[in-house]
Amino acid sequence: MFEKILIANRGEIALRVIRACHELGIRTVAVHSTADSAAMHVRMANESVCIGPPAPAKSYLSIPSVVAACEVTGADAIHPGYGFLSENANFAQILEDHGITFIGPSAEQIRMLGNKVAAKDVMRRRGIPCVPDSGGTVDDIGTAFRIAGKIGYPVMIKASAGGGGRGMKVVHSPDGLEGAYVTARVEARTAFGNDDVYMEKFLGNPRHIEIQVFGDGKGNAIHLGERDCSLQRRHQKVLEEAPATGIDAATRNCIGADCARAVAELRYSGAGTLEFLYQDGEFYFIEMNTRLQVEHPVTEAVYGVDLVQEQITVAAGLPLTIRQEEMLPSGHSIEARINAESYPDFTPCPGLVAAYHAPGGPGVRVDSALYAGYSIPPYYDSLIAKIAVHGSTRDSALAKLRQALDELIVDGIETNAELFRDIAAAPEFRDAVHDIHWLENRLKSEMAA
Ligand code: ADP
Repeated sequence: MFEKILIANRGEIALRVIRACHELGIRTVAVHSTADSAAMHVRMANESVCIGPPAPAKSYLSIPSVVAACEVTGADAIHPGYGFLSENANFAQILEDHGITFIGPSAEQIRMLGNKVAAKDVMRRRGIPCVPDSGGTVDDIGTAFRIAGKIGYPVMIKASAGGGGRGMKVVHSPDGLEGAYVTARVEARTAFGNDDVYMEKFLGNPRHIEIQVFGDGKGNAIHLGERDCSLQRRHQKVLEEAPATGIDAATRNCIGADCARAVAELRYSGAGTLEFLYQDGEFYFIEMNTRLQVEHPVTEAVYGVDLVQEQITVAAGLPLTIRQEEMLPSGHSIEARINAESYPDFTPCPGLVAAYHAPGGPGVRVDSALYAGYSIPPYYDSLIAKIAVHGSTRDSALAKLRQALDELIVDGIETNAELFRDIAAAPEFRDAVHDIHWLENRLKSEMAA
């Protein structure tokens, strides 16, 4: 087992990993930018190293700085959290070359699955159903017209290297195709340094349902059911839940087993998520995330597992401690992503947190790095707390979410907590009739009113 793990991240996820390490008796190293000297992850870790100025490119994304911190402190492994370097194959490769364990899949697996076109190809060949698409990159406008004609409008142009809900354009008719295609390539080059794009059928009213998988890197893998992440704004998840309403045990086990088999064949190591759109009873694979997801707490709640500890033990070469036959979902869990942003206009609101009180009670989990007197820096993601509730039924989880939101106090800055009060009160959400467009449409109509 590792003696010391460096956490190449900040905020709530750094705390999450530090907790898992300490519970396993592993010492921790925090890295931080100059803007984060007083951050909670720095306080909670056994050691800390300042790795650069506030700009992420010069600190949390700087591979030489992170590797140097690892060498200086003698850490034997790095947990990347999510975001930052977590899906950077080059980073994983450099660690492999330096004999430092990357807690996650191999560089080769990240490289292959991180490219959306390649990932779809890999999964399609393993029998995973995919959204109808161009079957590869679309390299010129003539091909774009031909493919769109074949799969039928509306189509979506997507950046092969895209992520974070960016790099996607919907085209409803041939008139809009050329403009969207040209812009999509320019934007992809600017945002991801790679202007490869591909095309997919745009689904009109799907839900986003994703399957959590876990591999031991030796050809064994299990699944931990699904999460419904349909509540999105600008293609970014806002609220997630497990299990997904309307997915029965037979359906879950069937798609779950297919996903576990596919990643087992790849000798996949660690936590991974296969993302699907789900419409009219059919699953359509869109991409795989080769890391821990922000929304992993809802899976942990219903399956009673610690995914981060499992990531660590598997990375250390130990067998999985969880067995497929034991993975039966219990109750219902919902997570709300509380951001430091105003509502309803969603402008980031960093600044001094004058008072902070986290909700509590049975079935209420709060992952947050906030404390009263902390000044939220403006350089990073605006997520400040994840409230994940767990009840015996979806209704009881929803009641707990309402209560937790009422208890939450964050003074001094604005948050989007009101958004979740609105969602929790909406009949469409209560009845789970929402799709991926529901929240966006609701927000638009509220703004118009
Ligand atoms: P990213 O990697 O940027 O998160 P994804 O491919 O995972 O991008 O897609 C993010 C979201 O965009 C999905 O959850 C869904 O809401 C929407 N989306 C993606 N592909 C399609 C599609 N073919 N049809 C309709 N919506 C889509």
